[in-house]
Amino acid sequence: MENYELLKELTQAFGVSGRERRVREIILRELSGLCDEVKVDAIGNVIALKKGRGGPEGKRVMLCAHMDEIGMQVKKIFPDGRLQMCRVGWVWTSALYHDQVVFQNGTIGVVGCADIEGAKNDCGKLYVDIGCTTKEDAEKYVQVGDYCGFVGPWYELQNGRISAKSLDDRAGCFLLLEALRRNKGEGPNDVYYVFSVQEEVGCRGSKTAAQQIRPDMGVSVDVTPDHFYPCDLEGSSAVGEGISVTLGDPSAMLDEYLVEEMLSCCEEKGIKYQRGVMDRGGTDASSMNLSGAGVRVAGIALVDRYPHSKCSVISKDDLRAGIELVHHYTHRVFAF
Ligand SMILES: [Zn+2]
Repeated sequence: MENYELLKELTQAFGVSGRERRVREIILRELSGLCDEVKVDAIGNVIALKKGRGGPEGKRVMLCAHMDEIGMQVKKIFPDGRLQMCRVGWVWTSALYHDQVVFQNGTIGVVGCADIEGAKNDCGKLYVDIGCTTKEDAEKYVQVGDYCGFVGPWYELQNGRISAKSLDDRAGCFLLLEALRRNKGEGPNDVYYVFSVQEEVGCRGSKTAAQQIRPDMGVSVDVTPDHFYPCDLEGSSAVGEGISVTLGDPSAMLDEYLVEEMLSCCEEKGIKYQRGVMDRGGTDASSMNLSGAGVRVAGIALVDRYPHSKCSVISKDDLRAGIELVHHYTHRVFAF
């Protein structure tokens, strides 16, 4: 049975891109005793290795879920104490307007806008109000360059659905931890569980992680948008319809053999899955794919309603299916 208190803790931790320290601390605590090697590299990725039984058919499998979340950074403090911001990662400005944000030091602010039309698209039109009315007063709490992220409490909805901030991609981190707990090293493959930094600003952490690991294959574990609610994205993914096996990712061409193996794995093990195509964005599959002399990649995703907001929604059933899939998939013999 999964420990959802851990997922709650992961979602509530501050971890805007480049400032993933708190998330990393939780993951390192959880990794204790679970794997053969753990290291943190220079840019902050956590790389955990669970060795397999070895033998000629054994592969080096890299799984990658990102620790970071989107947010904003202070670029100017106005004389009246309001903070002008720029975005870190793809922030929908409309998802921030009239909401609270939290800075790394715990300072809370409210996002306002001088121009309601501008608030829809232009982060530069937004400001953060921390309750100060002069620049001097504001600087006691927040400096130019400081980062803030969403305040997005954890709630359990009906039908096993969860709502919180940062499920993208703390849910993926949780999935990897739970899959690692089940890995007793009986499979043929050495499995690297990578918790990457800076995915939201260009899949940067996974680049250096893949260069170190030199995997035979890589699998990104991330979220993908739900398409069955009013939004401006189109596709066929739906929360609650199973783990999404990625068939289309604009940032990487998924390896035909690995995808077929993943679909077979779902069929053979009775894992509920859906076929997923992303038509925007990208994942850590892109950097694994183009690392070294080229790496075969695949991807799985948790379908996420209201992504990149303070109140994303995913399904516990999809999460369980994802844990099952990663467990069985990483124990397969890959014939390439
Ligand atoms: Zn993500």
